[in-house]
Amino acid sequence: MQNRLKDRIALVTGASSGIGEATALELARQGARVAIAARRRERLDALAKELAALGAEPLVLVADLADEADAQRIVHETEQRFGRLDILVNNAGVMYLEPIAEADLGRWRHMLELNVLGLIAATQAALAGMRARREGHIVNVSSTAGRIANPNAGGYAATKFGVVAFSEALRREVYKDNIRVSVIEPGAVATELREHIGHAATKDALNAWADSMRQLQSRDIAEVIAFCVGRPAHVNINEVLVRPTDQE
Ligand code: NDP
Repeated sequence: MQNRLKDRIALVTGASSGIGEATALELARQGARVAIAARRRERLDALAKELAALGAEPLVLVADLADEADAQRIVHETEQRFGRLDILVNNAGVMYLEPIAEADLGRWRHMLELNVLGLIAATQAALAGMRARREGHIVNVSSTAGRIANPNAGGYAATKFGVVAFSEALRREVYKDNIRVSVIEPGAVATELREHIGHAATKDALNAWADSMRQLQSRDIAEVIAFCVGRPAHVNINEVLVRPTDQE
């Protein structure tokens, strides 16, 4: 278990908090060397210290992944530092919830640029090296909102359904290159994600809903991601839906 990912090179986006932070730590615990990307440098630096203590030789990449050039740059910088990229975890995301009639399309555009286009740009950048080496694993973090579209989540669900659709098309394009693609669909996880909801009534309702149950913790999802990437090369776990036991 400890060394299952020994000598593997991973890049985790959105690693400054929540699921991404926990995933970077879990991959490091299992022996991977890990590059971590997000905007908040202080948070990444603090995580890098923990990763270094685990022997993960962390690479800190400050980047705005809503910017296509940054999404490509973090992949190239990881390859330059470590010589290759084996595992790309496309996790960075935001969740802006509000009724469609009142939606701030500027914020929704940003959400699409980050949750979908940033993920696609990082994936594109990673494919060249993975194809050349005929191995690699791309893990895309979607959501239960990529399966079920709830009221007030029209924009967010559009991004997460988009991630599921993109992941399946990607898998079918690259499986012959021995590249694996997994999409992870978490239910309610206790993270900072809900803090950025601008629509007060929606935020209050969602927080009350989440507080009514035993939410998943970031590490629960991190362990699922580590399990997927730790399977032998002939096993590709395509899709994992993980809800709290208490979630309908
Ligand atoms: P957090 O808010 O804790 O983490 C989001 C991460 O994304 C942070 O590291 C943040 O870093 C990063 N991020 C946000 N905007 C950008 C940007 N423009 N450029 C680079 N990085 C960015 O929430 P979670 O851990 O919950 O979210 C992680 C993923 O999990 C998201 O894709 C989310 O949609 C998904 N998810 C979460 C669920 C939940 O209930 N929490 C359920 C289902 C899916 P920084 O601000 O430093 O840039």
